[in-house]
This record gives sequence, structure tokens and C-alpha cells, in this order.
Amino acid sequence: MAYDFDLYVIGAGSGGVRAARFAAGFGAKVGVAESRYLGGTCVNVGCVPKKLLVYGAHFAEDFEQAAGFGWSLDQAQFDWATLIANKDREINRLNGIYRNLLVNSGVTLHEGHARIVAPHTVEINGERFSAKHILIATGGWPQIPQIPGAEHAISSNEAFFLKTLPKRVLVVGGGYIAVEFAGIFHGLGASTSLLYRGDLFLRGFDGAVRKHLQEELTKRGMDLQFNADIERIDRQADGSLSVTLKDGRKLETDCVFYATGRRPMLDNLGLENTAVKLDQKGFVEVDELYQTAEPSILAIGDVIGRVQLTPVALAEGMAVARRLFKLEQYRLVDYQMIPTAVFSLPNIGTVGLTEEQAREAGHEVQIFESRFRPMKLTLTECQERTLMKLVVDAKTDKVLGCHMVGPEAGEIVQGLAIALKAGATKRDFDETIGVHPTAAEEFVTMRTPVAG
Ligand code: FAD
Ligand code: NDP
Repeated sequence: MAYDFDLYVIGAGSGGVRAARFAAGFGAKVGVAESRYLGGTCVNVGCVPKKLLVYGAHFAEDFEQAAGFGWSLDQAQFDWATLIANKDREINRLNGIYRNLLVNSGVTLHEGHARIVAPHTVEINGERFSAKHILIATGGWPQIPQIPGAEHAISSNEAFFLKTLPKRVLVVGGGYIAVEFAGIFHGLGASTSLLYRGDLFLRGFDGAVRKHLQEELTKRGMDLQFNADIERIDRQADGSLSVTLKDGRKLETDCVFYATGRRPMLDNLGLENTAVKLDQKGFVEVDELYQTAEPSILAIGDVIGRVQLTPVALAEGMAVARRLFKLEQYRLVDYQMIPTAVFSLPNIGTVGLTEEQAREAGHEVQIFESRFRPMKLTLTECQERTLMKLVVDAKTDKVLGCHMVGPEAGEIVQGLAIALKAGATKRDFDETIGVHPTAAEEFVTMRTPVAG
């Protein structure tokens, strides 16, 4: 049977655009539907605007430290509206680039909400198109627990478009988004509290990293409240919010920002017209080839709930395009050694196993750690310290994990990820000559294990 398209991609986000462009480049006839914004979450309400706001927040400490280097600045002023307007202009520019990328690679772009009406048929803007393969790349959406007064809370989606910077912010959650946005609000001058329901935020990260970041954020004056959760939120007559915690305490704030995870975006997608199955958490269930239970339908990216990171969605999109249309170039996505950064202030950079994971997996481990005051701060009053940590297999000498909290940790860990992926041993690290004077050189000069 002749189909309108070889591949129809629903969602022009990180994964969808990558799959569509490469499939078209391999000669396939490709359609893409996008209901909201070209480039998806990452470009519009994720990685990119977030990083721009983090840069904005970082200036606060730059100004503070400048005095130690002889600079005197008048009282620095910050204008939220300017930052948001400039950020919006940049995102508009990127939306245009994504449009060109798709159109120039020969993909047919349909702007509107797509709904699957049959295993090979998609409906969009009242028109139906048939496709040999349909790829669900619809991403995720913030999830706010349904507590009384939840309607007064915002998520990351709204935070990027606030008209003014709130004077006081309560950030709820202990994952990537909570920690990053708490740093943004705090850096830009809002009085910021972070509430997390557990003992210590960033569950799943190395214990030393979590503790170190806790200490650094506390030094900077951020209010961290662990074992705390909200029971209800009430709007006061003056517009402020009264927040009642489960332990009975009451807090006053101007903004409650929930960052409590993301659900798969499956709204009105028409999955009931297919055999596609969902897993226990509600994400689209796929096998290692991103194949759903419906033979003509695949899924990638945040909607499958594996690793919710842009480079992973990109790799999955590429894998699907290659498997369907360029089999000779096909490679399975390797989910080991995925490096990641939390753009808190200071940053976290990490790749490989945490000490806890390594021990749990039965490795006999050697731990190397270095804690120091970065050279740049020696002329300043700032007491921030950097943490670097290596988790090494004592038997094979292989480096199992690298972890860092400190300036540019994300930048530094990218190179280390290549070494770990190539199977580097501690001896390889030791025999690598450092770049001096940098913070990164500490990773090749740690000689004495701190714990066995
Ligand atoms: P998305 O990028 O979400 O794209 C899905 C697209 O599908 C959207 O454009 C949506 O409008 C569209 N869509 C949905 N349903 C339909 C439909 N029925 N019809 C048509 N179109 C539809 N990752 C990192 O690696 N680094 C970071 O620093 C980082 N920061 C982040 C910060 C925040 C605040 C958030 C929320 C996420 C961040 N992420 C980061 C995660 C990253 O954004 C996601 O992992 C990535 O965008 C997932 O890509 P995707 O293709 O699966 O989905
Ligand atoms: P995460 O899954 O990272 O964190 C969710 C947090 O919310 C956890 O601390 C969790 O606690 C807590 N939580 C969950 N449910 C509740 C609840 N009902 N009440 C109170 N607390 C709750 O999600 P995020 O929203 O922070 O981010 C989504 C994903 O986006 C990330 O996992 C990441 O993959 C990606 N991302 C990546 C970034 C990067 O690469 N720099 C930046 C931002 C996002 P507990 O630990 O106890 O379960």
C-alpha cells in the first residue's frame, strides 16, 4: 500500500526533529506535527532558556568577586523584564532555525495538534495522513501534586514568563529543576527557600556531591528545608501566598514553584485507537528498538520515561532514523556512562557510577577526593569550595565514576565522559598531564585514596 509518508513524527522537540531530519536525509518521505513550539521543551521551556537564566544569576557573584581584582562597581541593578525579553528574542531566533532545519531537509511541517486515529493514520487540523511508521516524540509536562490551592502554584513552564521577579519564592522538589531554579531565583535576588520531602535533595546523585551542594547553598544564604512538604496553599488578601506545611508550620511567600517531576505528554493523542501500551508509571512502553506494542508505531524521548535528557532524545531519534532508513549505520543507544550536569550555582557535573551504586553493584572501590578553594576566589572574600571525586574499581583500576561540584563542572565532565566510555583506568588518569593552572587538572593529580 502507498502511504502519504514513510515516517510521520508527532512532536518537533529534541528527539522528533533529530529523527525527522535524518530520516529525510536518508531519502525517506517525512512529515512532522508540532502543536506548540518548534524545538520542543529544551529550546522553549527547558535547557536553553534555563541556561540563559543561570548565566544571568551568575553575574551576582561575579560582581561581588570583582572587588578583589580591583574593580569597583556602583550598586549593580538587575532588571528581570530585560532578561526575559532578551531570552524571548533568542528563543524566537532558535524557533526560526528549527523551522529552517526541518524545511531545508525536505520534511513536511504541519503546525497543529496531531491525533492518531488508526495504526497508520494521523489527523491534524482536520486532515488525515497515512504513514508507514508513526513516531511518538511528544515529550513531557510538569506534574504538580493535587493539593488544595495547587492552582496558585507555578511550574517551570510559567517561570520562564513571569512578568516580575517575585520577592520571595518557595521552590518545591529536590531534583534537577528545583535545584537549578532555586539557584536562579536566589542569584537574581529573590529570597528563596527550597522544600524537599526527603532527608537530602538530588536522590540518585553521589552522596558526597549532595552533601557538598547542600553546604555550598547554605553558605550562600539559601534556605534549605528538608523533610518538608506542603499541605495547602492559600491566597491572602494582599496577593501573597500562605503555605501550610504537613508538620503544621506556616510560611509566607509570593510564589510557589513546583518542580516535582514530569509526566508523559499523551493528551488527546488517540492511543486508544492503537495497541500501544503504557508502563506502570504511564510512559509509553517500548522495546530496545523503540518499538511500541503497535507494529507501526515507535516512541522516543521523554515520553518513554527512560532518561529525560536532550542528548539522550537526540541519540534515540538518530537510532530510529538509522534503523528504519539506513540500517548499515544503525547502532544501539548506549545508556551507560551518560554524563550530566545540574546547572545549580555552583554546578554539578557527573558521569558513571556513584560510590553508592558502585558498592551496591559489588565493586570493591577506591575513592579519591579533592576539596579546594578555587584559585579565582583567593583574591576574594568568597569561601566557596570545589569538590572532585573519583570512584575507582580496586581490582581492575577502572574509573567507574567522576563527580564534581564547582564552577564549570558540566564543561569539565564532558571530556571525562569520553575517557570513561573508552574504559580509562586510574593509571591512565595519573599518566595524563594536567592543564595548569586549572581546576580540571585536579582530576589527574589525586593520588591517595580517602576510603577503601
Ligand atoms: P520535547 O522536547 O518535549 O518535544 C515534544 C514536542 O512534542 C513538544 O514541542 C510538544 O509541543 C509536541 N507535542 C506534544 N504532543 C503533541 C501532539 N499531539 N501533536 C503535535 N505536537 C505535540 N535536558 C538536558 O539535557 N539538559 C538540560 O539542561 C535540561 N534542562 C531542562 C530544564 C527544564 C526546565 C526542563 C523542563 C527540561 C530540561 N531538560 C534538560 C530535559 C529536556 O528538555 C528533555 O529531555 C527533552 O526536551 C526531551 O525531548 P523530547 O523530544 O522527548 O520532547
Ligand atoms: P526529577 O525527577 O529530577 O525530580 C523530581 C523531584 O520532585 C524529586 O526530588 C522528587 O522527590 C520530588 N517529588 C516528586 N513527587 C513529589 C510530590 N508529590 N511531592 C513532593 N515532592 C515530589 O524531576 P524534575 O521535575 O526536576 O525534572 C524532570 C527531568 O528533566 C529530570 O529528571 C531531568 O531528567 C530533566 N532535566 C534535566 C536537567 C539537566 O540536564 N540539567 C535540568 C532540568 C531537568 P524524590 O526524590 O523523593 O522522589
